[in-house]
Amino acid sequence: MEKLQVKDKTFAVSIPEAQILEAVKRVAGEINRDFDGKEPLFLPVLNGAFMFAADLLKEITIPCEVSFIKLASYQGTQTSGTIREVIGLAKDITGRHVIIVEDIIDSGLTMAHMIETLAAHNPASIAVCSCLVKPDALKVQIPIDYRCLDIPNDFIVGYGLDYDGFGRNTRDIYTLV
Ligand code: 5GP
Ligand code: MG
Repeated sequence: MEKLQVKDKTFAVSIPEAQILEAVKRVAGEINRDFDGKEPLFLPVLNGAFMFAADLLKEITIPCEVSFIKLASYQGTQTSGTIREVIGLAKDITGRHVIIVEDIIDSGLTMAHMIETLAAHNPASIAVCSCLVKPDALKVQIPIDYRCLDIPNDFIVGYGLDYDGFGRNTRDIYTLV
């Protein structure tokens, strides 16, 4: 099994590129079918989703727009806990069919917050498209309209996902050993 060293941790290939791309192609086909005539606006979430978004969009054949967003996390001064704000919403999403493109859904809390924030801008519809989902880690109920692959509750890197900022630049997905 091919190994990958990222800083102090060792990872091994768990999902090879071919398997990822096959699943991406299938999901793109579903979106092409469901959003025909709707001119959707894809909102990939930086940084993690950049590679998935690139592969997905290459397979989208219907007219569409793409605009990247990012979640900024900071510690609140008044309240306890982390506050996450959606930044970079450059496009007016009012009345648009938006498709959030995420790298991975773990607890689902990030996506729940994202959906709530975007819903306040009155889009025509919101769909969630995640490359990976950890079904056993989900803590909140969120609609996951499109998903490429379900994975076990293990820490992964590669294909856009990082460990401490590193390891995003691989074709395959790796699991911590
Ligand atoms: P959630 O809010 O669903 O628990 O977490 C989602 C975010 O946590 C993802 O966007 C991603 O940044 C990070 N994350 C969750 N699981 C993993 C993982 O296995 N590997 C990496 N690199 N990031 C993860
Ligand atoms: Mg992410």
